[in-house]
Amino acid sequence: MEIKVELTKNPKAKPQDESKLGFGQIFTDHMFLMNYDEGQGWHDARIVPYGPIELEPSAMCLHYGQEVFEGLKAYRTDTGKIQLFRPDENFKRLNLSNERLCIPKVDEEFLTEALKKLILVEQDWVPHSKDTSLYIRPFIIATDAHLGVHPAHHYLLMIILSPVGPYYPEGLDPVKIYVETKYVRAVKGGTGMAKTAGNYSASLLSQEEAAEQDYTQVLWLDGVERKYIEEVGAMNIFFVIDGVAVTPMLQGSILSGITRKSCIEIMQSWGMKVEERRISIDEVVDAYHSGKLDEVFGTGTAAVISPVGHLRYGDMVMTINDNKIGKISQRLYDELTGIQWGKIEDKFGWIVPVTE
Ligand SMILES: *Cc1c(COP(=O)(O)O)cnc(C)c1O
Repeated sequence: MEIKVELTKNPKAKPQDESKLGFGQIFTDHMFLMNYDEGQGWHDARIVPYGPIELEPSAMCLHYGQEVFEGLKAYRTDTGKIQLFRPDENFKRLNLSNERLCIPKVDEEFLTEALKKLILVEQDWVPHSKDTSLYIRPFIIATDAHLGVHPAHHYLLMIILSPVGPYYPEGLDPVKIYVETKYVRAVKGGTGMAKTAGNYSASLLSQEEAAEQDYTQVLWLDGVERKYIEEVGAMNIFFVIDGVAVTPMLQGSILSGITRKSCIEIMQSWGMKVEERRISIDEVVDAYHSGKLDEVFGTGTAAVISPVGHLRYGDMVMTINDNKIGKISQRLYDELTGIQWGKIEDKFGWIVPVTE
C-alpha cells in the first residue's frame, strides 16, 4: 500500500530544554493514519499534520471501549543514527490485542515500514540528550456512529509521536509499591493480556488510593484467589530470590511485556537462572523474612527497569536491598539501554535502524 505524505505548513518549535521533556506531554508535527472499512480492508495510509480528528459523538470506541494500543521508542545513537527496538514484537502484540477485541488484523511488516517512514519525516524530533527518546504510540479505535454493542465495521489506526525524557525524573531510584488487596486488574479469560484502554481505566482508582498513601504504583494479585502475583500497572515484575530471577508466567491475565521478554533473554545470556512460574505473595514474604529476597524490579518500555525499594503488603512494609538499586537491576538497565541507544553491540538482533 502506498503512503501519501502531506507536510505541515506550520512546523512547531522543537523543545529547547530537553531536560524538561517529561513523558507524553508534547507531540510532533505529523501523525500516521489508516482507515478500515468492512469489505475494503485497511486503506488510505497517510502521513498528515498532527492535529484533532473528527469523530461522531456516537463513535463506538467512546461508548464501549473497543480500542487497542502499543508503546515503543525510537532512540538516537551517539553518532546521530535513529533506531527502533524490536518493533516487530509490538506489531505482533497489537494483532494479539486486536484478536481479543474483535478488531481486524493489521499487516505487521507494512506497519513497521510506515512507522519508519513517519520517523524519517520527524527525525529532527528525536531528542539528543542522554536518556531521552521518541515515544511512539500506535492505536486503533472503532469509529462506527452507532450505539449497538457489537464489533464495529469501521476503524481508524493512528500513530502519534512524543519526545520524552526519562520516565522517572529521579532516574533509577527505587520506587514504592503496594500490593493491592481490594481491587483486581484482570482475570483469566478477560482482557488482561491485551493492551486495551479499559484495563487502565479500571486501575485508576486503585492507583489513586495508592498515591494518597505515598505509593507510586500498585502490584496486582490474581483476581480469583488474590494470592498469586501478576504485574504492576504498566510494568511486569521480577523477584530475585537467592540468585534466581522469578517472574509470573504468562497465563492470560498478564501483559506479555517486550522488556520482560528481553530481560529474560539477557539474564539467560549471562548464565543466570530465570523461572517463569506462579509466584505467590506469601513466597515473596517468606523469602524476605529469610533474607533471600535480593531484588525486586519492574520492566516496561517507558521506565525500562524500575527497582522496587519498598513493597507493602497489608500492614507490613518490606524494604528491599536497603532501598538501593540492586546489582542485577543496574546491570540489566545498563545492558538494555546500552543496546537501545547503540552504545553496546546488539548480539540479539533486536535493533531495527531507521536512518543509516
Ligand atoms: C505495556 C505494558 C507492560 C510493559 O510492556 P513492554 O512491552 O515491556 O513495554 C506491562 N504491563 C502492562 C499492563 C502494560 O500495559
